[in-house]
Amino acid sequence: MQSFKDSILKLITETSTNLPPDVRYAIQEARLREDAGTRSALALGTITDNIKRAEENVSPICQDTGMLTFKIKAPVGANQIEMAKQIRQAVKEATQLGKLRPNSVDSLTGENSGDNLGEGVPVIHFEQWENDYIDVRLILKGGGCENKNIQYSLPCELEGLGRAGRDLDGIRKCILHAVYQAQGQGCSAGFIGVGIGGDRTTGYELAKKQLFRSVTDTNPNPDLARLEEYIMEKANTLSIGTMGFGGNTTLLGCKIGSMHRIPASFYVSVAYNCWAFRRQGVTIDPETGAIRDWIYTDDAVPADAKDPSVVETAEEKLGGRQVVLTTPITEEQIRDLKVGDIVVINGLIHTGRDALHKHLMDHDSPVDLNGGVIYHCGPVMLKDADGKWNVKAAGPTTSIREEPYQGDIIKKFGIRAVIGKGGMGAKTLAALKEHGAVYLNAIGGAAQYYAECIENVDGVDFMEFGIPEAMWHLQVKDFAAIVTMDAHGNSLHADVEKTSLDKLAELKEPVFK
Ligand code: SF4
Repeated sequence: MQSFKDSILKLITETSTNLPPDVRYAIQEARLREDAGTRSALALGTITDNIKRAEENVSPICQDTGMLTFKIKAPVGANQIEMAKQIRQAVKEATQLGKLRPNSVDSLTGENSGDNLGEGVPVIHFEQWENDYIDVRLILKGGGCENKNIQYSLPCELEGLGRAGRDLDGIRKCILHAVYQAQGQGCSAGFIGVGIGGDRTTGYELAKKQLFRSVTDTNPNPDLARLEEYIMEKANTLSIGTMGFGGNTTLLGCKIGSMHRIPASFYVSVAYNCWAFRRQGVTIDPETGAIRDWIYTDDAVPADAKDPSVVETAEEKLGGRQVVLTTPITEEQIRDLKVGDIVVINGLIHTGRDALHKHLMDHDSPVDLNGGVIYHCGPVMLKDADGKWNVKAAGPTTSIREEPYQGDIIKKFGIRAVIGKGGMGAKTLAALKEHGAVYLNAIGGAAQYYAECIENVDGVDFMEFGIPEAMWHLQVKDFAAIVTMDAHGNSLHADVEKTSLDKLAELKEPVFK
C-alpha cells in the first residue's frame, strides 16, 4: 500500500480542479438551452470559462472546497486504520499545495485547524465488499449548497403546493419545493440527490449517496425513473435560472433513492449540490495502493454528445449597460446604477465574511471603508518563497448569511457596494436605498475567473479568524459583477422568487396518483 497516500492526493487534486465528464456534459447542455444574451447565459459562459481555467491551472474550481466525504469499499483484509491515516496525510498535503482551502473549524472556539483535519473531518465511510480492489469515491461539497439541503416530514403543508401526503405525489411536491427554496443561493443550476424514507440521519445519507450516481444514468426503479424525469422537466419551468438570475435551466440533475422507514416517520431528504459538482472516484490496487482506473469517465456521456472536455470561452455579452467604477465610489455614481447593469470594478476591495461582519458591529475597521467595496469571499491563499501572498481561488460566497449585519455595517462605515452571490434580504435592500449602495452579484463558484482579476494583495487583517474569514485587501482590475439590488429599492432576487413561486403553484395538482 505504499502508493495509497499518493493515489488519494491525486484523487483530491483531480476532484477539486477538474469536473468529471458527466457534469460538464450537463452544464454544456444547459448552456445550449439558454437564450443568448441573457444574464443566465452570461453566467453559464463564465462558469464554462472558469472550468477550463481551473483544469489548466490545476487550481480549485471554487474557493470553497467544502466538506470532504470519502466513501470507500475495500476487500476483507485491507487495513482500514492505515488507509484512514494515509487519507488524512493526503488531505494535509493537498491543503499545503493549495488544492484545498483550510476549511476545518472548531465549532466551539471558531479556530481553523489550518490543514482540513479535525474532529470528524474529513468524513470517511468504509464498507467491506467481495471484490479484489478498493473503490474510493470523494465528494467536495461546499457550504453554499450544503446550507440549502432540506428535509421534509410527511405529511406537511408546502408554500405554493399545499398539502404533501405520504405518497409518491407528496414526494414529488417536496422535491419541487426543495428546488424552489434553494433559489440561486446554492449556486444554481444545481444537482439534487433525494433520499426517501429512513430516519433523519440515514435519509440525508441516502440523499448524498445519490450524488455519486452518474448524471446520465437511469434509475432501475421505474416509478423513481419516472419521478426523476418529471422533476427534471418541471423544475426547469420555475425560471430560477443560473445563479437565480432567471432563465431556462434551474436543475442539472435529479437522482432519487428509497429505503424502508418505520410507520411513524416518513422523511424526504434532499441534498442540493451546486453546479461545481466535484466528485470523483478511483479503483485502487490493494497490494500497491496504486490507481487502477478512474471511475467517472467519458463512458457516462452519450456518444452523440458534444465532446464534454471541450469547454468554450465565454462569449455571451449582455445587452445591458456596462459601468466602470474605480474605488472609492461616490453616492452619486451608485444612485445612477439600476438592476441589470454590469459593473466593472477597478481598485481596492476588501473581503469580509461571517467573522468580520460580527466583529465590525462592535469595533472599528482597521482600514477606511468609506466609499469602499466589501467582497463576500473566503479565498484560497498561498504564500510564496518570498513570503508574498498569492490568490489561488477567489469566487463569491453566499451573502444571505450576513443579512443580520449587512445593513448596519453599510451605514456605519459608508460602504457603497457589496459583492457576493445569491442576493440578500429586505433589511439590506432598505439600507441600500437609505444610504446609497448596491449589491453586486458575482458568479458563484467562478473562483479562477475572479482570481485572475486580482492584481495584488495589499495586506490582510484578522488572520486570527483563519484564511477564509480574514479581511484581505485586494487590488482588482476589471472585476465584473451584475447589479441585482440597487439603491432604488429594486431586487432581482425578490422578483425571481415571486415568479418562481407563481410557477411552483401551477404544479399543485396531483400528478402521481
Ligand atoms: S459553487 Fe457556490 S455553492 Fe458551490 S462550493 Fe462554490 S460557492 Fe459554494
